[in-house]
Amino acid sequence: MKLAARVQQVTPSMTLAIDTKAKAMKREGIDVISFSVGEPDFDTPTHIRVAAETALEQGKTRYGAAAGEPRLREVIAQKLQQDNGLCYGAENILVTNGGKHSLFNLMLAAIEPGDEVIIPAPYWVSYPEMVKLAGGTPVIVPTTLESGYKISPEQLRQAVTPRTKLFVLNSPSNPTGMVYTPAEIRALATVIVELDLWVVSDEIYEKLRYGGAEHLSIGAASPEAYDRTIISSGFAKSYAMTGWRVGFLAGPLDLIKATTTIQGHSTSNVCTFAQYGAIAAYEQPQDCVQEMLTAFAERRQVILEAINAIPGLVCPQPEGAFYVFPDISQLGMGSIDFCDKLLDTQQVAAVPGIAFGADRCVRFSYATDLESIRRGMDRLALFVKSLG
Ligand SMILES: *Cc1c(COP(=O)(O)O)cnc(C)c1O
Repeated sequence: MKLAARVQQVTPSMTLAIDTKAKAMKREGIDVISFSVGEPDFDTPTHIRVAAETALEQGKTRYGAAAGEPRLREVIAQKLQQDNGLCYGAENILVTNGGKHSLFNLMLAAIEPGDEVIIPAPYWVSYPEMVKLAGGTPVIVPTTLESGYKISPEQLRQAVTPRTKLFVLNSPSNPTGMVYTPAEIRALATVIVELDLWVVSDEIYEKLRYGGAEHLSIGAASPEAYDRTIISSGFAKSYAMTGWRVGFLAGPLDLIKATTTIQGHSTSNVCTFAQYGAIAAYEQPQDCVQEMLTAFAERRQVILEAINAIPGLVCPQPEGAFYVFPDISQLGMGSIDFCDKLLDTQQVAAVPGIAFGADRCVRFSYATDLESIRRGMDRLALFVKSLG
């Protein structure tokens, strides 16, 4: 079959490719230690599962409104008000099949051929591909280890052209784990307002922060910034709900109406009873998030100390999410080569930074148990030593 041009420019997800290879090795009985997956290793908290089970028993098994269950839209709007100081009503919320789907809906609704979307690198793998699928042009702005992998207001300003439509901001970040300070967010907001851009703020790791790092949603920087902000988030990472597929988009009414129409002709509503789990996640006490966060914080300490004790690896301290992103460039090989050899010789799976637009780096997810982290880091040290 002659496939559409739009799919030919899109690359398959490399995070999934490494994971597939690691899983195949595991099936052969090989003792693989995997740092490749971007999902919490915890089970979904009990009260959330019970809420979905109850919804199932109560017959919440039929088609619902395309934009989401009214109660969930309300609860999300309340959360954005309370946690983030963002004034949205339920009508400003679209419930989507995960944060990925909310970004995809946004790109389809907002981007036309010729439109440019500014994406700082390292970036989450799907941003540039989604922009291309929508017919737009990703404009990648590289950032450096020295700048903490953050885009500066000056860099943003310089990347803007008359065709710029949207700026993609992700804090806390996947893959670097960095978190923009409130002052840095305000400075970016100033540029957005001044140059009259739109920003989509991907806040999926908002609740996973360490060492007192603060989160300011860019829409809360000023009323003018609010008018140019779209929020994308979801339940996957904070509540260990990756397989549930519940996320949301928040923004101006015309955009939410347009994305609801797109969703109405594509996926329709998100799985009805899954949405009741999401309602419980936001409505009930947040102790479960705190417990997972405490575990992640300890693992972060252990993996960071181990990596920084290995000569040749340079890793800034991540302040959010559950990834470390060491620079491997002193070792004289690219990230694909590094990850291939690491998996083949030491049976340790990590994701090449090139997938995130940073070939000098490799991503290790620490959403795995401490014992595996310790054993995996010993193997990583042996591997790096064998190169020298
Ligand atoms: C995981 C992730 C998402 C969305 O995940 P869903 O499972 O679709 O909710 C969005 N952005 C980033 C940066 C992520 O890491």
